[in-house]
Amino acid sequence: MSSIFKQAGFALFGLSLSFTSVALADEGMFPLSELSKLDLKSAGINLTPDEIFNPAGISVVDGICRVNGCTGSFLSSDGLLITNHHCAFDAIQKASTSQNDYLKNGFVSKTRADEIPAPGYTVRITESYRDVSKEVLTAVTEEMSFLERSKAIEKRRKELEKEAESASPGLRAEVAEMFTGKTYVLFLYTYLKDIRLVFAPPVGIGEFGGDFDNWEWPRHTGDFSFMRAYTSPDGSSADYSPENVPYKPKQFLRVQPKGANEGDAVFILGYPGRTLRQRTASYFEYEQTVRLPKLVELYSWQMQEMTLAGEKDRQVAIKHATRYKSLANVEKRSRGQLLGLKRTTIIDDKHRMETELQKFIDADPARKQRYSTVLKSIADVYKPQLIQGPGEITLQEFRQGFRALSFAMTLYESALERAKPDLEREAPYMERNWLLTKQQLKLSVGDWHPDTDKKLLIGFVQRLRDLPSGSLPVEVTDWLKQLTTNQTELQSIVDKTSVGKWETVETNLDRSAEELQKSNDPVLKMAIELYPVFLKQRELDKERSGELNRLYGELLDVKQLQNPDRFVPDANATLRITYGRIKGYSPADAIYKQPVSTVKGILEKSTGTEPFATPQALLDTYQRKDFDRYLHPVLNDVPVAILYNTDTTGGNSGSPVLNGEGELIGVNFDRTFEATINDFAWNESYSRSIGVDIRYVLWVTGKVYGAQNTIQEILRESR
Ligand code: ASP
Repeated sequence: MSSIFKQAGFALFGLSLSFTSVALADEGMFPLSELSKLDLKSAGINLTPDEIFNPAGISVVDGICRVNGCTGSFLSSDGLLITNHHCAFDAIQKASTSQNDYLKNGFVSKTRADEIPAPGYTVRITESYRDVSKEVLTAVTEEMSFLERSKAIEKRRKELEKEAESASPGLRAEVAEMFTGKTYVLFLYTYLKDIRLVFAPPVGIGEFGGDFDNWEWPRHTGDFSFMRAYTSPDGSSADYSPENVPYKPKQFLRVQPKGANEGDAVFILGYPGRTLRQRTASYFEYEQTVRLPKLVELYSWQMQEMTLAGEKDRQVAIKHATRYKSLANVEKRSRGQLLGLKRTTIIDDKHRMETELQKFIDADPARKQRYSTVLKSIADVYKPQLIQGPGEITLQEFRQGFRALSFAMTLYESALERAKPDLEREAPYMERNWLLTKQQLKLSVGDWHPDTDKKLLIGFVQRLRDLPSGSLPVEVTDWLKQLTTNQTELQSIVDKTSVGKWETVETNLDRSAEELQKSNDPVLKMAIELYPVFLKQRELDKERSGELNRLYGELLDVKQLQNPDRFVPDANATLRITYGRIKGYSPADAIYKQPVSTVKGILEKSTGTEPFATPQALLDTYQRKDFDRYLHPVLNDVPVAILYNTDTTGGNSGSPVLNGEGELIGVNFDRTFEATINDFAWNESYSRSIGVDIRYVLWVTGKVYGAQNTIQEILRESR
């Protein structure tokens, strides 16, 4: 960690909020600044806070990284890292063809020269951070409108990032909002850009159970893959080049091949993406009645179209695989959350807490004067979204889901944004992000399949037309009126566009907005016509977030007055620790679920057809009883997955599951169906996370697929 961090030290959040005694329940994705306040000993963790995180030296934390939206752990001094199969999935998909189907057959690199570059992948390493709340908040004044407030904060954050980047060349700066409207932290990161695939099991292992088992327990998925980070020979971050050399991490994690068993303490370090626990009842009502049901409908329909398209042609199925997987994941999670909202008392509890808070506010004239309307004002921001939400979400998904439109929108928006001074641009179009944005666009265009897009265009237009009148902006209603109702004509829009060809997109990226406006391309024309609607929505979103930013800041102030002890910031993709134990649970009356699954369960589930098509190599190795040292001492079988009561969310995918000594005993990849709701509220009775057992990882890699080079690299350095 660099000197910036040392200055900030553990007082980091003390600047604006004091977490005097963090609740010592298992709940909590604690920022590392909280480590010294946690009772690690009684949690069964035998490391000192300094051994886990030491800004003045090297600690366990230095062995972990962010891999795109997931977490990864370095396992060797040569940049070898482990993450989930579903995190490496896009790399495996992009490298796969119907002839060389690494998704289906897995991928084993025999030598380093065989490792496959993973385009679009980055590995992010946290170097340092410091509190910049004051610097951010001085950008806002009482007189500002909400929109101005939102824009001022956005601009200030960008300025701070730019300043920090020019002070630390080679590093990337990102300001994270820890508490809405209150606390901001500037993180400095190293981004490595040459990432390669080392080992991936076939989907019959890495995705065993597919959507059917996703978000479920018991689980038998070997959701892991190995990748390697590379740098230029001088150790600096560089794009892919054959001359590059393996990255030398400051630290790598030790693997414990014995794994861990029921009741053992575990902790997880990682980059949890987003939780919404500080939100109010009014927000959850919006989730329950509008957002979640809408997503479920829109995503399940799109998935159906992709499934149909891929049924006859494996190459098409491969093209859709990444997008399908991410929609399927959110669709099922949304269903879990809907069910959770129905089954639990989260909304009622929030109402009750808010009633108590309101009483507390009203009991004191000064407090009343300052905070009496805060809860109502927050509810007033969400209220119109109960009506406008279905239209807003459908339009947003139309822009994303009709792929040709999303390419055309990026084209046109980039022309408009890139004509502005750098700091005034939307983030993806700023100089510091532009290359990455272009690269992502190229990869997405590469996966374009016009026939599916035709179906999606027809389906989205139908859904927009079916919305109750008044839920769409008039510009969209007018546009829909003049749009043909003839399906063949709609399809021909897709036939006639060239925004799905990278060469055309690339040439157009150099054109100005005026030049693009002259184009006859029907999808580009559609994007240009609809763009003002999206722009207006973007401004509206900013206005809402400017207002909520101020209101949530006030809400937190008064909640702290009411109860000074109980605040942990929501997840925001920054580094966190969570801990718990390997433990079963009871999801429903008379059901108790054990916390360890074994290969026996794989055999029970296997049908020979996807998603339960276990590779023959695994069946043979199992039949030979070639277990090496990976048998569970009590279950007398190879353990596959483990369950524990830590506090995780998306982004913790790929996180190391560590034992009390800080050794790797598993890789986190999921939560149970009941635990999907823990994005809204954590509860010991239902919050369970799922990891792949390290014994299964080593058995599959070394015994089933014979990747002894990878096993030796890990184990040689571990002990
Ligand atoms: N499988 C999950 C995801 O990334 C991990 C989680 O949310 O717990 O969506």
